[in-house]
Amino acid sequence: MSDASEDPVREDLIRDKIRADNEAGTFDGRVQTRFPPEPNGYLHIGHAKSICTNFGVAEEFGGTCNLRFDDTNPAAEDHEFIDAIHDDLAWLGFEPGGVFHASDYFGQLYEWAESLIEQGLAYVDDQDAETISAQRGRFGEPGEDSPFRGRSPEENLGLFHQMRDGAFGDGDKVLRAKIDMAHPVMAMRDPVLYRIRRVPHQRTGDEWILYPTYDWAHGQSDAIEGVTHSLCTLEFEDHRPLYDWCLEHLDLPREKPEQTEFARLNLTHTVMSKRLLKRLVDDGVVDGWDDPRMPTLRGLRKRGYPAEAIRAFIDHIGIAKTNSVVEIELLESFVRRHHNEHALRRMAVLDPVKVVITNWPTDDSGAPVVEHVEAVNNPEDDAAGTRQVPFSGELWIERADFELDPPPKYYRLTPGREVRLRAGYFITATDAVTDADGTVTEIHATYDPETRGGQAPDGRKVKATIHWVSAAHAIDGTVHLYERLFAAEHPGSDGDPMDDLHPASRETLSAAKLEPALADAEPGTVVQFERLGYFAVDADTAVDAPPVFHRTVGLRDEWANIQKRQQNQAKQQAKQRAKQHDRKQEQNR
Ligand code: ATP
Ligand code: MG
Repeated sequence: MSDASEDPVREDLIRDKIRADNEAGTFDGRVQTRFPPEPNGYLHIGHAKSICTNFGVAEEFGGTCNLRFDDTNPAAEDHEFIDAIHDDLAWLGFEPGGVFHASDYFGQLYEWAESLIEQGLAYVDDQDAETISAQRGRFGEPGEDSPFRGRSPEENLGLFHQMRDGAFGDGDKVLRAKIDMAHPVMAMRDPVLYRIRRVPHQRTGDEWILYPTYDWAHGQSDAIEGVTHSLCTLEFEDHRPLYDWCLEHLDLPREKPEQTEFARLNLTHTVMSKRLLKRLVDDGVVDGWDDPRMPTLRGLRKRGYPAEAIRAFIDHIGIAKTNSVVEIELLESFVRRHHNEHALRRMAVLDPVKVVITNWPTDDSGAPVVEHVEAVNNPEDDAAGTRQVPFSGELWIERADFELDPPPKYYRLTPGREVRLRAGYFITATDAVTDADGTVTEIHATYDPETRGGQAPDGRKVKATIHWVSAAHAIDGTVHLYERLFAAEHPGSDGDPMDDLHPASRETLSAAKLEPALADAEPGTVVQFERLGYFAVDADTAVDAPPVFHRTVGLRDEWANIQKRQQNQAKQQAKQRAKQHDRKQEQNR
């Protein structure tokens, strides 16, 4: 697969269209886009695709991209969401050319609606939503005209004014475009443009009780701002004729913007709709919108996903016109690749058991000697240098790195076996103390003073290298391990997505032992715990409290495995096809 981010000239349906427009002189070579979130939730990685696309093409073609809050819906909008959207956008690395609100255009939209009515292109309908919906008919079958469709422009204008002035109750009347109830495109069957809702709006307060629908607000907002290329997701493809129809019948200050659709981003093991994400929060499945298991930008950020990796992933998957589901392992591999280059290596023992080195020297006062061994901070980056890690006679190692009674092919520590302590010495286990249940409580071992730094002068080899932390110097910490929030690859594919939740998507280890250098890890940064994975330092933990870490991603590149599997499958299929072909030829002979 080629990496789109490395292409000098990127080609996709949006960029091709912009190039064609520029060549033809449409919009005078101007490129203006917008990212139009409804402020009713937090941004998720799906939104990041829209953001990277809108801001990306504007930047590539020397244009601008604005942020427009699509706040036409008075309910459920909140300053909390607005602030978060600003914040998430900045974190992703984009700065809007301007910030606008669809609600700023309520006056203009209203006047344009009056003009439609005057042209005989809109009418007031007294029917309720259910009746209107039933009359729309079905795909391939014409709908039915409303009995109010024939009202005169004068009557409609009067009623429309009364609607605005509060003469009718919520839902008593709507304004509809008068297009064609038999139109092959359902969205063109006299869509609703305005409805009455006595809900105060967070920006316009009680000024309006009449609110425009998405269909009436969106294209016109684009036109008012001077958007040239209105990029949206595929579900709006059927609305494009309506988008164009609305603009065609208005006296616009400049050229009509044009809508182009692209496929939404979907990820395996992930739900992306705000409604479902809200359910996860409301039902207490997760700790909030920024829970590290959430696909929200806040969640991913807390989890330790770098903005650069998210952008690189989105560039890589590119723009297409067919909906598909991208494997989450691909996103994870971008995250891993980034941290492999940048993350400092540290040692942390998550499930500790003590090793006592019985031949470790003591000083004059009888206390164990403390040495410092040199460890490489990042083998991928010489500039990251080395650090001194304290080493002494008592160490913590992972419980899983010792077996009293080892299974076959177990190469780590076991009585009589020698292993390497990363950057330290070779040690050989001698015996272990167990409690009444047979659980190992302490391991005894000897070390070889000649193997400092992890090499034996006689060249003898060991089969395993394990990580460790000096018990006298360890700091305590809490580490959260995460599984996928949804065990199913396609949550909800047969029923309620909530039935597909992973039963234990978080495991908390609160007795982790960390090497002292981790005390200085900056909140929000990601380090590699050697042999374990990448871990983000929690940014919300108090400075003087023991540190908390979130596992960002493991070390193994599962995407490589998936690719291998896919390649093997393709090879198998090709072989089978070749066989079938040979058989046919033989039969034909
Ligand atoms: P949801 O269905 O999650 O509520 P939405 O489309 O209603 O999402 P908006 O706030 O209206 O959310 O979205 C702002 C912009 O982001 C829209 O242009 C929308 O098309 C785009 N967008 C939302 N989800 C995705 C996605 N999964 N992939 C690509 N673009 C998306
Ligand atoms: Mg929406």
